[in-house]
Amino acid sequence: MNWINDELVRLTEKSLERSLSVYSLAAGHPGHLRRGESRLLNLSSNDYLGLSGHAAIVAAMSESLLSEGAGSGASRLVTGNRAPYALLEQSLAQWQGKEAALVFANGYMANTGVIGALVSRRDVVFSDRLNHASIVDGITLSRAEHVRYRHNDPDHLTFLLNKHRDARRKLIVTDAMFSMDGDHALLRELVVLKQRHGAMLMVDEAHSGGVYFARGEGLSHQLGVNEDVDVHMGTFSKSFGVYGAYVCGSRTLIRWLLNTARPLVYSTALPPAVIAGISKALELVQEEPWRRERLAALTKRFRASLCTAGFTVIDGDSPIIPLIVGDNETAVRFSSDLQDEGIAAVAIRPPTVPNGTARIRYSISALHMEQELMEAAARIRRIGLKLGVLKS
Ligand code: PMP
Repeated sequence: MNWINDELVRLTEKSLERSLSVYSLAAGHPGHLRRGESRLLNLSSNDYLGLSGHAAIVAAMSESLLSEGAGSGASRLVTGNRAPYALLEQSLAQWQGKEAALVFANGYMANTGVIGALVSRRDVVFSDRLNHASIVDGITLSRAEHVRYRHNDPDHLTFLLNKHRDARRKLIVTDAMFSMDGDHALLRELVVLKQRHGAMLMVDEAHSGGVYFARGEGLSHQLGVNEDVDVHMGTFSKSFGVYGAYVCGSRTLIRWLLNTARPLVYSTALPPAVIAGISKALELVQEEPWRRERLAALTKRFRASLCTAGFTVIDGDSPIIPLIVGDNETAVRFSSDLQDEGIAAVAIRPPTVPNGTARIRYSISALHMEQELMEAAARIRRIGLKLGVLKS
């Protein structure tokens, strides 16, 4: 086993070793965390709508725990499929304007399960180069040919679709809002290509679900292409503030997934309390648009203040805002200095992002206060100047 030590030394030398930090909630300070004695503004959470501590969600989960117990006891196809699952799936399908929905244990399992159920050896998956790791792993597990197109480049995708025109099945898959850059997929262009080339289209709305459109339906709705998305996937771990994931589509698709998506078939159903929490969160996501509006307003202000501070920010309206610093060491130093200044914002390094693009990835929550975000931007600027990331 000595090789592991050697590999770890190599990771440390490249500032690539990851380790765990321990955080706790900062009671009375929404949008903050505690680490040891310090209170930190949390600019690294995916709790976009600020629902993770919502009293009604917590109450729904507590009630369910008391009446249904802690665990579901079996996979859904055995005896783990309690009544609230069916109700939740009906509501999800309705919310998404699709025929049916299926809940998965988490987004990673949804992506690996769905891709594995749709394609195999004789097929080709066309995947944006910046897609999430769970999509990449799903393709690898499926044994289909993995063809990566340049990020948001429909011309390159067209070229590759033509090149593989004889494949048995073709699947185009993309993040809707890219998790590390925060930009949006060109969904309208992808719909045109999927129709022209007879491909299936799968969209991962993990980060955009809850954030976009009137009732938080997601980016595919905002861009008016929901009907042309064959597989709409999203998570409950980000905007919903809970845990789990969903896939929406035709009744036929959902029947097929129920029979063939291995992470669903061979894994225990989520605890009933989690389903109760998600169900309450789904109501709040739809019925409290002020959370989306507040998130959008705060995001706009924070983006503007980073631009004024002199940073180059990828254009857009997404609550994910990366500031690329380049090398891993500077990113780690930047994150550590931020912590000293009362801000939790982690360094994102390869292999999560391409080599040479290590970054601090900020994310906004509806729980944040405008004033504290402005102060944070000023501190980020100071550190940027000190580390030479910003030129004065
Ligand atoms: N897809 C994307 C785009 C993601 O960012 C993530 C989570 N980071 C996932 C899927 C996986 O979701 P989960 O955390 O629910 O497993």
